[in-house]
Amino acid sequence: MFLEPHFKSQRSGWIEVVCGSMFSGKTEELIRRLRRAKIANQKVQIFKPAVDTRYDEEKIVSHNANYIDSIPVEHSKTLIGLSEGFDVVGVDEAQFFDLGLPLICEELATKGIRVIVAGLDMDYTGKPFGPMPHLLSVAEYITKVHAICQHCGNLATHSYRKINESGKVLLGEKESYEARCRTCYNMGNILDLRSDNQKEIDESEGTLF
Ligand SMILES: [Zn+2]
Repeated sequence: MFLEPHFKSQRSGWIEVVCGSMFSGKTEELIRRLRRAKIANQKVQIFKPAVDTRYDEEKIVSHNANYIDSIPVEHSKTLIGLSEGFDVVGVDEAQFFDLGLPLICEELATKGIRVIVAGLDMDYTGKPFGPMPHLLSVAEYITKVHAICQHCGNLATHSYRKINESGKVLLGEKESYEARCRTCYNMGNILDLRSDNQKEIDESEGTLF
């Protein structure tokens, strides 16, 4: 459980990063922190990349439909003006932002704003995703959350893409991706084939779910 730091009689900003694979609860954790700040009457604003158009244009939507109003942003540099007058700024799906985001977050933190960033640390190929590695380097606080591997039940750190489409930005959720542990991720589509075979066996035996 992340406990908010506090600095007595000192106005100081900082950067928190919540990272992990898909289905790890990053957005839920971001929302939990923002709600707590809001309850304490702090001025809270949330931004997401304009590219993330799942579900709802105007809201941050975690996968359990637990939402907070948010502003879609085209470029990180606009965050400076948009964050004016706020105590806490949240950034969701940070991996889809441009590479200028870490410097902007540092500028906001220097101004005294608490910046909470949530995003995928790795893309579906297992590589560091967009501005995330830089953000992890400059953040004061890092929380890596885990999903549960959909094949073996271990902690999952990887987002496995089930369908063959190129490009890092593939929106859409459960139908396209699985959370997997390192071992199951490295087994790749062998596990897909196995589960397809199992489905055929189940269907031929008339198994009910
Ligand atoms: Zn596994």
